[in-house]
Amino acid sequence: MGLKIKALVAHVQGWLVRMWKKLARTKTNHPNKTGASTSLTSGLVVLCLLLTAISISQYVYTNDRVNQAIQSADQLFEELNEAKEQLAERGRELDEATIQLKKDEELLQEMEALKEKSETDDMEIEALKLQVEEQAKKIARMQAIPTGKKVYLTFDDGPSVNTLAILDVLAHYNVKATFFVINTGKTEYMKKIVDSGNAIALHTHSHNYEAIYANEEAFWADWQAIHDLVLAQTGVDTRVFRFPGGSSNRISAQYNEGIMTRLTEQAAQKGRPYFDWNTTNGDAESKALSPAEMIYRAKLGAQKFDSVMLLMHDSAAKTITPQILPEIIEYYQSEGYAFCVIDEHTPPVHQTVKN
Ligand SMILES: [Zn+2]
Repeated sequence: MGLKIKALVAHVQGWLVRMWKKLARTKTNHPNKTGASTSLTSGLVVLCLLLTAISISQYVYTNDRVNQAIQSADQLFEELNEAKEQLAERGRELDEATIQLKKDEELLQEMEALKEKSETDDMEIEALKLQVEEQAKKIARMQAIPTGKKVYLTFDDGPSVNTLAILDVLAHYNVKATFFVINTGKTEYMKKIVDSGNAIALHTHSHNYEAIYANEEAFWADWQAIHDLVLAQTGVDTRVFRFPGGSSNRISAQYNEGIMTRLTEQAAQKGRPYFDWNTTNGDAESKALSPAEMIYRAKLGAQKFDSVMLLMHDSAAKTITPQILPEIIEYYQSEGYAFCVIDEHTPPVHQTVKN
C-alpha cells in the first residue's frame, strides 16, 4: 500500500515539475499573463507541499511498521534462542539421564552376576554338605556293621602325665583301652584310668630286667607288688598282666636261661593270663621313628589280624604317643574295628617264647 502511494506521489510530483517548466516557458513567451500564472503557481506549490507531507507521513508510517516488524523479528529471534537453549539444556539432561541409565544397567548386570555367583556358591556348599553327609553315613554304616574285628589299644609303662593326655583322646573318640601299669610314682593316675572306664592291668613294679628275671620267685614277688599297688590305688583285683619285654624276650636269657618258658607255664597254672601284642606303633624303638612311620606301623595290624593287639607306651618320655593316637583310632574306626579292653576272658595273644 505504502509503495503504491509513493509511486503515485512521485508521479504527481513529476507531473507538477513538468507543469512548472511549461508555465515558465509560457511566462517567457507571454509576459501579460503573469497574475494568473502566479496564482496557479502558488496553488501548485501548496499542492506539491501537501503531497510531499503525505508522502513523508506515509514514509514515517511505513518506517514504524518496518521497525515494529524488526522488533517482532528480534523478539522472535530471542524466543527462538531461548527455545534453542532450553532444547540444549534438555539435551544435556537427556545425555546425563542416558549416562545414569547406562550406569544403572551396568549395576544391574553386576548385581545379576553376583546373584548368579551367589547361587553357584550356594550350590557348591550344598554339594559339599551332601558329600559330608554321605561320608558320615558311610562311616556310620561301617561302624554299625558287625565285622567281628577287634582292636585292643594297650599302653605300657605308665601312668604318667601322658596317660592323662591319652585318656582325653580316648574320651574324645569314645573308645576304651587297656593300661599295663608299673610303679612310676604317679600312682594317683591309676584311679583316673579306672574312673574313665578304661581297663587297668599289671606290667611290673620295678621294670628292672635283671631283678625280675633273676629267678621265678623274684618275678612273682614283683608281680604281687604291682598287683597290690593297683588294688590299693583302684580297688581293682586284676590278674591280667604283660611280661616286661614280652614273653618272647631274649634279654631274660642274660640273667636266667629258660626262665620265660617256666614263667609262661607257671602263669597258666596260677590262672594269671598274660598278653603280648601282634602290632606296635614303634614308640619304644631305640632309634626314634617319625610320627608318620609310627602311624604306618600301627595301621599294619589291620592288614594281618581281625584281632589286633596294639602295643604303645604312656611313660613320661613318650609325648608323641597321644599326638598320633587320633589318626590311629580314626583308621581302625574306618576299617570297622570294635575297640575292646582286655580282661581274663579275652582270647590271649601270645608270642613265641624264645628263652
Ligand atoms: Zn614295659
